[in-house]
Amino acid sequence: MSHKYMKVERIDHGTVIDHILPSKAFDVLRVLGLSGDRTMSILVNSHSKKGGKKDILKLEDVELTAEEANLVALVSPQATINIIVGGKVVRKFNAEAPRVVRGILTCSNPNCISNQNEPITSEFKLGPDEGHRYVCTYCERDIIDLAKRISP
Ligand SMILES: [Zn+2]
Repeated sequence: MSHKYMKVERIDHGTVIDHILPSKAFDVLRVLGLSGDRTMSILVNSHSKKGGKKDILKLEDVELTAEEANLVALVSPQATINIIVGGKVVRKFNAEAPRVVRGILTCSNPNCISNQNEPITSEFKLGPDEGHRYVCTYCERDIIDLAKRISP
């Protein structure tokens, strides 16, 4: 038996997010708004069976919705989300880039109305091209590095 692929402890109930881009697991946690006081396993730069590296997150007692699963795509488009109940996978999602993102990202334009002290929630729309690009609804600025624009 090969020990090359490290196994993380199985969970009985929760969510396993697999095929996260290497070193992006912490960005995934931020985009989901999950804090470090939860019970979770984080495997960073694990060797993937398909070659290359990936991160894996196992969140105990959390069942992500399809909508939340799609937020994962903001920082890791190839991720897969498995919901585990009673030790078995009961639902599986592929993270799909959401068309509209409200309140999670911050516009990079300091003059944007969403960055003023107005009660306005930031809103970004997925651009029409294939580039996984988000555009601010208010000032139309593109966000290039999504991970850097996650609201604190
Ligand atoms: Zn803006």
